[in-house]
Amino acid sequence: MTGVDVLDVSVSALDEAIGRARAGSSFLRAKLGDAPVRDAEDFARLPFTTKQELRETPFLDYAAVPAERIVRIHSSSGTTGKRTICAYSAKDIEDWTEMFARCYRFAGVTEADRVQLMVGYGMWTAGVGFQAGSERLGAMTIPSGPGNTELQLELMREAGTTVFGATSSFALLIAELVEREALRDELSLRVGIIGSERWGDATRRRIESGLGIETFDVYGMTELWGPGTGVECSLHEGMHVWSDHYHVEIVDPETLEPVPDGTPGEVVVTTLTKEATPLVRYRTRDLSFRYAQPCPCGSPYPRIGRIEGRSDDQVKVRGVIFLPAQVDTVLADVEGAGSEFQAHVDRDEAGRDSLVIRVEGGDRPGLAAELAQRFQAQIGVRVDVDLVPMGELPRNAGKTKRVFDHRDH
Ligand SMILES: [Zn+2]
Repeated sequence: MTGVDVLDVSVSALDEAIGRARAGSSFLRAKLGDAPVRDAEDFARLPFTTKQELRETPFLDYAAVPAERIVRIHSSSGTTGKRTICAYSAKDIEDWTEMFARCYRFAGVTEADRVQLMVGYGMWTAGVGFQAGSERLGAMTIPSGPGNTELQLELMREAGTTVFGATSSFALLIAELVEREALRDELSLRVGIIGSERWGDATRRRIESGLGIETFDVYGMTELWGPGTGVECSLHEGMHVWSDHYHVEIVDPETLEPVPDGTPGEVVVTTLTKEATPLVRYRTRDLSFRYAQPCPCGSPYPRIGRIEGRSDDQVKVRGVIFLPAQVDTVLADVEGAGSEFQAHVDRDEAGRDSLVIRVEGGDRPGLAAELAQRFQAQIGVRVDVDLVPMGELPRNAGKTKRVFDHRDH
């Protein structure tokens, strides 16, 4: 054992949640055995659950409630391989709605707000999750869905939209359009709730200054109900996670041992209340860390850092681990650099890796050289910078691909 105190919920709450999951799910019964969870060490001995397992197990075999008690299913995007289906009981939907309403409250949203949801509907969890929480709050809800920037702006003007939900890519697209067409005075926006992909401080500043708003990073993914697992408070120092519904561990992605607070690693989640598709030590692949100290805002909910990347997106270049968040750190700090970038990794015939970072920027002399130097210091390998004009890289309504690995492995 590492001696790391990994539990911030009572052992009995975990034992109860795991007992319920085992009792209902033949898959989890076979996987977890029947040993009780009496202490942190028992818990740490339980096997992890992977995305692969959720993909390969039919959801009705995985589910911990009978099919008659499932009132809805959603699926994750399935960008790689088969979709993952997650199921919801009526109580799951109710709990999710309350969690999302709590996210809005943390962001200072009230029933007086008008909330435009430029996020995906259908099998996606975003649309219906954002909507249920907003309606629970009593706010006017505008389910505009993703895409169609002109229509979005029309609705914002007509409804007097004050709050929106979007991915960071789409929020950036709207912010740039509003800036370009000098539309800010016609809009009443004050808050953006941004979720579903990792986004850096440079992007955040462009969205906030372009629209004159405050943004809040919301956490979640389909397997964890959907977005709404946690959110930033007005201090913007990490995201509070709803520890009455989730137990969060951070583990070293290679050794899978829990790491101390403040140390980055993979987020591993156990659900405490989810009935239909509960999770036991689920490896999210998201990279973050836990804050050791309670938040100065006074909230008792523990915090994790904003997501720094996914363990799937990290690539090794000349033996050094490279993460997109390292690029964000530099871009946020260099004058004249834009927020959008792509990283291209390739290998020449001699077997030597190269890393080219294509980044948007202004025409300040020396900008490319300064970026190359800063990237090299941050990442630890030589980086070639390909500077392109602002607005040249793709922006879209969903997630934006940033890392392109062209090597044949
Ligand atoms: Zn706080």
